[in-house]
Amino acid sequence: MPSIGKTMLWTTFLCLLMASSSGGAPLNGATGARSKVLLISFDGFRWDYDRDVDTPNLDAMAMDGVKAAYVTPPFITITSPTHFTLLTGKYVENHGVIHNMWFNTTTQERKPYYMTQFVNEWWDNGSLPIWITAQRQGRKAGSLHFPGTASSYQGERAMVSEVEPRFYNYSNETAWRESVDKVMGQWFGAQDLDFVSMYFGEPDATGHRHGPDSPERRAMVRQVDRTVGYIRDSARRHDLADRLDIIITADHGMRTVLRNGLVNEIILSQIPGFTFKDLSFHLVDFGPVGMLLPKEGRLEKVYNALKGAHPNLHVYKREEMPERLHYANNPRILPLLLISDPGYVINGYVPLQFNKGEHGFDNEDMDMKPFFRAVGPSFRQNLEVGPFETVNVYPLMCHLLGIKPEPNDGHLDATRHMLVSSDDRGTTVSESAVSHVFIGLAAVSGFLVVVFVLATSRAAYRKRKAIKR
Ligand SMILES: [Zn+2]
Repeated sequence: MPSIGKTMLWTTFLCLLMASSSGGAPLNGATGARSKVLLISFDGFRWDYDRDVDTPNLDAMAMDGVKAAYVTPPFITITSPTHFTLLTGKYVENHGVIHNMWFNTTTQERKPYYMTQFVNEWWDNGSLPIWITAQRQGRKAGSLHFPGTASSYQGERAMVSEVEPRFYNYSNETAWRESVDKVMGQWFGAQDLDFVSMYFGEPDATGHRHGPDSPERRAMVRQVDRTVGYIRDSARRHDLADRLDIIITADHGMRTVLRNGLVNEIILSQIPGFTFKDLSFHLVDFGPVGMLLPKEGRLEKVYNALKGAHPNLHVYKREEMPERLHYANNPRILPLLLISDPGYVINGYVPLQFNKGEHGFDNEDMDMKPFFRAVGPSFRQNLEVGPFETVNVYPLMCHLLGIKPEPNDGHLDATRHMLVSSDDRGTTVSESAVSHVFIGLAAVSGFLVVVFVLATSRAAYRKRKAIKR
């Protein structure tokens, strides 16, 4: 009897093992319906911009889909680096688009944001944006005005694209609607694209000019909200609503700049022991982050002069940068980094920055956090989720498109709970099948245990009785 019991237990164990291993792979994952995906960025839309403005369309989108409390962008919290993180799922030091500006430390050349769009090697430096990965796996991708669109990557580019002209008006609501109709009707409709990234330059511009607490910013949030309504209407008009997943987010937030005698401003030229003559190149006067390349042999001198010179200025050698910022391990990042506290900007010779709002600060600053909304057939409804890092948007989009992602710093586990995809339904079905098998086997083995106990105790009773005899 004991040997038969052991065999039974082993059989039970093996059955459970087999049942659980077959449940691990989704039953219908391979044939799960893939959706079309639209990624939209409203530049500089801070996570809490819907709190002091009526936003009926964003509210309806949250009811019909998923809203995150906020999302955390990568550092440095400026436009091109954070957008390239959305497209690649990598932290900035890993994708190499480390600044809005292309620069050359030898020739002293610097190119502003728009002109940097056309410096191909600035973008094409080893990482593939999702357009290229999707196209290599048989899907069709497009991009409208999204940072990085003008470049090719390993000789390939998004099959349909539109780059805005120089001196483009990024705030024109009529132009926004024309872009939406083009993307829905022609790109997703007639040309049957599977993925499109789309960029709007507001409310960033208004936030810079008037500050994040201004009535102008609130008016621009109303314009964004109307556009969100228009986007969803357009998807319905073009019969896309049941196969298009829409993700709306941003690259960074916005913070009020402290100045005008309210604070002790950071002006490098006024710091004792510091001189620009010790530098062979610098990138300052662009908000709260500066980068310096000291002349040979002068790094320690410059470092010691700046370190501790202003209570709101933090000075790091590249190798001392806090690891959580993921902004050190790239040869494009200069040897000395300056980061100001939230609200402060770094000035070179004299204060030249007149924006009332600014971004670029530490990504832990709540004012740097963007919003995140998603709606469509793959997303659950009326679900509010906790915050997550924007490196995780890329693996989410790859999952929705049914493509294998490139190596990246994100993970689908950060967003999987938002989904009702066929994969998830497959997993649910197989999990419940496993649990039924488990309950059945547990009942059988429980019964065998009872039989075993009864049989052995009966045998022992007889034995004892025999001994007594
Ligand atoms: Zn931006």
